[in-house]
Formats: sequence, structure tokens, C-alpha cells
Amino acid sequence: MSIKNNIVYFSNELAAKNCKLIAVSKTHPAESVQEAYNAGQRIFGENKVQEMTSKYEVLPKDIQWHMIGHLQTNKVKYIAPFVSLIHSVDSVKLLEEINKQGKKINRIIPCLLQIFIAQEETKFGLNEAELFLFVQSSILKNYSHVRIEGLMGMASLTGDENQIRKEFRNLRRIFDELKTKESANLQMKELSMGMSSDYKIAMEEGSTMVRVGSAIFGSRDYSK
Ligand SMILES: *Cc1c(COP(=O)(O)O)cnc(C)c1O
Repeated sequence: MSIKNNIVYFSNELAAKNCKLIAVSKTHPAESVQEAYNAGQRIFGENKVQEMTSKYEVLPKDIQWHMIGHLQTNKVKYIAPFVSLIHSVDSVKLLEEINKQGKKINRIIPCLLQIFIAQEETKFGLNEAELFLFVQSSILKNYSHVRIEGLMGMASLTGDENQIRKEFRNLRRIFDELKTKESANLQMKELSMGMSSDYKIAMEEGSTMVRVGSAIFGSRDYSK
């Protein structure tokens, strides 16, 4: 299968379910992104600031760049001018910095809050209690240069499909509950869940964005 064929395949499969494809191009060269772009793909996900900015500089400017990896506060300024969506907001401190950088350049930066749903202890994210405390506090009202558009989560790394489904269903429940809350700078519409290995389950559980890397671009080589 070629990158082009993979893009066509996923686009067809997702369009039927009104789900967006985030093509995760991390570790793959700009040429591979261009190949996917030529097949019609416009949204790409990266997890490192340096890699995202260098690809942004050489690739077509109508690409929408999504940050999906853990973001350090001191690096927000490099992507603030052009990033389309930050999926990985895992602390209030980070959101505060994104707001600060947005304010400097007079731009409202769309964000998703990353929610911790997996069994593993190593994953980044807010838990459910922290999330509701934050949304109901008055802090968010002060962040006029961010807009929280939804949630992102990663299921446990396990072959147990029932466990994965349970975690995605839990995230969907939190998302639906948050949708009923009203706050300034909050506009719940996107639920980012599902990767190459579990996107089918995620879509069945109501995902609106899947982040697919290896199933499109092939396996990643971290030795280079
Ligand atoms: C790398 C990555 C993906 C894509 O993973 P694949 O298994 O290659 O599809 C999705 N989401 C996040 C947060 C990632 O870091």
C-alpha cells in the first residue's frame, strides 16, 4: 500500500462517519507529508515543536498543523502563530501559557484538554475531577485567547478490546457531560480518540477525530 492509497482508504472510511482524519506524520520526512497532501490530506499531527515548525516552513501553507504530543510551556511561542489545534493540553499552567502567547499575537488558539483515561500511570492528562473543577472555576473566563473545543484521550496499550472500549466510552461520557456546561472560551465539539490500532473502536464510541500514523505512513524508525 502507498501513502496515497492509505489516505484514500481512510478518507472514505471516516467520511461515512463524519470523523476527521489527523494524519500523524511524526518522524516521517516532509516528502511523505507532501505525498499525503497530494492525495488530498490537509490535517497533520506532530508531537515535537521543532519537527512541526521545520515541516511548516517547507510545506504548503494551507496545511492544518495539530500538536498531539506533550508540550513544554517554554516552546508554546514557536507554534502559537500557526498551530490549528493543540490536542495535548494537560495542565492549567500550559493553558495559561498558550493564552499568554495567543494574546501577544492577537490570536485565539483552539485547544483540546487531554484527559487521563488509561490504566497506565505514565500517560499525561487531567483526571475527571480536575477537569470539572477547572471548567467550573472562574479561571477559564480569564483566558480569552484560547478556545477549548473538546477533549483528547489515549486508551491503554493493551490487546484487550473490551478494556479499550470501556476507556473510550468513559471519555465519551465525560465529553457529553461537559457539553451541558456553559462557560466563556469553552465550545465542546471535538472528541479526539483513536490511533492506528484502535481507531475502529474509537469511532464506534463516538470519536470525531482519529490520529492515525503508522497505518498511513508505515512504522516509525527512531534510530535515525
Ligand atoms: C504517535 C501518536 C499517534 C499515532 O500513533 P499510531 O499508532 O502510529 O497511529 C496518535 N496519537 C498520539 C498522541 C501520538 O503520539
